[in-house]
Amino acid sequence: MKREHLIKPVLDHHYPTIQYGKGVYLYDDQGKAYLDASSGAVTAGIGHGVQEIIDAMLEQAGKVSFVYRSQFTSEPAERLAKKLSDLAPGGDYWSFFVNSGSEATETAMKIAIQHWQEKGRLGKNKVLSRRMSYHGITMGALSMSGHVLRRRRFIPLLEDFPVVAPPYCYRCPLNKTYPACGLACADDLETAIKRIGAEHIAAFIAEPVIGAAGGAVVPPEGYFKRIKEICNRHEILFIADEVMTGIARTGAMFAMQHSGVEPDLMALGKGMSAGYTPMAAALVKDHVMEPILKGSKSIMSGHTYSANPQSAAVSLAVLDYMEKHQLVEAAKVKGSYLLARLERLAEQFEPIGDVRGAGLLLAVEFVSDRISKLPFPAGLGLTSRIIDKAFHKGLLVYPAAGGVDGAGDAVIVAPPLTITEAEIDLLVQLLEETVREVLQEIS
Ligand code: PLP
Repeated sequence: MKREHLIKPVLDHHYPTIQYGKGVYLYDDQGKAYLDASSGAVTAGIGHGVQEIIDAMLEQAGKVSFVYRSQFTSEPAERLAKKLSDLAPGGDYWSFFVNSGSEATETAMKIAIQHWQEKGRLGKNKVLSRRMSYHGITMGALSMSGHVLRRRRFIPLLEDFPVVAPPYCYRCPLNKTYPACGLACADDLETAIKRIGAEHIAAFIAEPVIGAAGGAVVPPEGYFKRIKEICNRHEILFIADEVMTGIARTGAMFAMQHSGVEPDLMALGKGMSAGYTPMAAALVKDHVMEPILKGSKSIMSGHTYSANPQSAAVSLAVLDYMEKHQLVEAAKVKGSYLLARLERLAEQFEPIGDVRGAGLLLAVEFVSDRISKLPFPAGLGLTSRIIDKAFHKGLLVYPAAGGVDGAGDAVIVAPPLTITEAEIDLLVQLLEETVREVLQEIS
């Protein structure tokens, strides 16, 4: 192996070098084109190489790229915080800007705990979450994450927060069927609260649509209303992790808008800057900030690059671009077109057990048998085979751990919201070839 210096995800794997990106395509230094049907890691929401964003970045860089948040504020950061509050469910949010989704969920967790401390409720410091969830890779975020594979190495250092059943109707962890179940998975939160004691719990965190840990798993109707009722009844804050779903991805600016619930806190990342620069945020409702404003007046968190003016300017430009090109609506319209195409694919291939999602956050789950819904043996590595084969064909899709404890195979299809119908047709054609060839290989 050639001596290398850059640590890449798999150390003995060859990664092509990308030269440039335009629209839904990335081009490597050998001239090969990749149709970015995953927006990277569900991030490049407006596609690559958009000149307006590059111009906004340059304009801000021409004024100032960095100020330290303990010394100054900046006009783009102030404007972005106001804009996000205006767009968010019910308004009245404050923004704490950070640099990654993991920092956003972890900051939300810390603010929730601090909220109760400032009220003198010192024992409320656990943050419950669901199995089959992913909230980030840093230790606090990983403590909240039910992603079995990503937790495994660090279990002795982690809190055991993911204790609640996920709303995974395709293979219900409680062996029930909606609507006869009466939303038993939501009630599982209440069971956990009673077991642990509300006096020890600061917050409950959940993804509006489960991403990497499940593959675009949409909860049943009424789920989040019930969750919020339970949280309110037990004086527990509700944190919506909108890192993957937020900023138009699911056909609403925030996925929580589909269920009419106003979270007490939200975590944002990925689509916020559409990948043009690192940017993420914890959004906090007025009533959560209130005891902090009356008390210590300072949130005990922050990073050197928090509220970076250049990233804020990029984020504002991304939001303007989305409004100008009506990308919330596009996610809905293109999403239903792509969903219908994927459903047709499922008719052709018996091992496609489920096709699901919201807007342009869609997924395909594979099972060895449609009746029992048993997954393929883990050793077969079906998800990796599909990802690799698609990559070889110039199609990028994103891996998800299907199944409640990661025992399953699913791929996420989440192209930029700017994708055209013709590009969707090509995407589906490449995916069809991929699935056919992989299934032949393993049969
Ligand atoms: N939360 C959710 C729902 C995510 O999907 C992710 C990343 O995939 C994160 C948090 C962590 O974000 P980041 O990778 O930017 O730290």
